[in-house]
Amino acid sequence: MPVSSEERKPAWLKAKIPGGPAYAKVKTLVDKNALHTVCQSAHCPNMGECWSRGTATIMILGNTCTRSCGFCAVDTGKPPTTDWAEPARVADAVRIMGLKHAVITSVARDDLKDGGSEIWARTIRAVRHANPGTHIEVLIPDFKGHWEDLDRVLDAGPDILNHNVETVPRLHKQVRPQAKYERSLEMLQRAKARGFVTKTSIMLGIGELEDEVDLVLRDLVAIETDILTLGQYLRPTPQHLPVDRWVTPEEFGRWKERGLALGFGMVESAPLVRSSYHADEQSAHYIMNKRQSRSSMESQVAVV
Ligand code: SF4
Repeated sequence: MPVSSEERKPAWLKAKIPGGPAYAKVKTLVDKNALHTVCQSAHCPNMGECWSRGTATIMILGNTCTRSCGFCAVDTGKPPTTDWAEPARVADAVRIMGLKHAVITSVARDDLKDGGSEIWARTIRAVRHANPGTHIEVLIPDFKGHWEDLDRVLDAGPDILNHNVETVPRLHKQVRPQAKYERSLEMLQRAKARGFVTKTSIMLGIGELEDEVDLVLRDLVAIETDILTLGQYLRPTPQHLPVDRWVTPEEFGRWKERGLALGFGMVESAPLVRSSYHADEQSAHYIMNKRQSRSSMESQVAVV
């Protein structure tokens, strides 16, 4: 039986209440630069924590999505016209926030010929130009499998290509009806083939079975996905899919061990983990590990 009432939320899902000076600073900046954040639009439970740490995930290409995923709180409808001044405002916000690691995402813009990829590319370049030392992680839609749009984004040179598979193949029709599991895998695989660090996320507690999750993990490892995040699905409104079960922190811990044993470079797995949650720490860790293993490989070669 799906769980539905808010009262039954377990204690481990209690998040920090939004507020404080750092939170207010991020809020003012987002408003002043006329930006959207997925933190607000997707009702993320971590806003109190992330914004108090002075970080937020900026969402470009408007606040209205052309898709209607069963789990997502972002509004569906006809998006506004493209805002070509947005990349500069995003770059400015990243500079003022002083982000060492910027996560940028967007709504799906299936209404645009290029899926929004040109704005994506301009945003990456503008952020890079204004913030040369900042790592840029892009959490992108699937561009309906138009790979020239993916290439346009990759050509702009992000540091991490993030694309969420969200759930197991069987649940795609309900959870992300306009997406395809295989298409998402292909996107990650193509980015990897071009040498990018790849990252994806799965929600648990939306109806998946253990074997199905394990199979997804194995699919992702087979295409050499670097970073995996797993978190609890939370129903944003009664119009969205119900929560199937509350996944315990212990089970999340087991998925982390399983992911690492299978071969992911990094796995973040806990009830409140979201794709962009503590992404700065994940990437710093990941990049450091990569460097360490590269230098140990180099020293082995020197010894031989
Ligand atoms: S986890 Fe991501 S979406 Fe949620 S508040 Fe933090 S930065 Fe925003």
